[in-house]
Amino acid sequence: MLRWACPCAECRGEGYGTVGRLERATELPASELELEAVTLTGRYALQLGFKSGHSTGIYTFRYLRSLCPCADCRRSGAGA
Ligand SMILES: [Zn+2]
Ligand SMILES: [Zn+2]
Repeated sequence: MLRWACPCAECRGEGYGTVGRLERATELPASELELEAVTLTGRYALQLGFKSGHSTGIYTFRYLRSLCPCADCRRSGAGA
């Protein structure tokens, strides 16, 4: 789920009409989906590294919260 939500430029497209990888892909190999490393980036985000070596996604806590499906987060609204 987190892999599919990767906010990096490669996955999302970088503007200029570029299509991100995740917008084209309908499925990803298992190695892409397996989380390998989590690095704290400053005080506001986590950098997630996947087994495939893909580690350019910076997930801010606000963004992670907005993805969280639990009742608490849903109730408080995205990014609260
Ligand atoms: Zn990415
Ligand atoms: Zn939650």
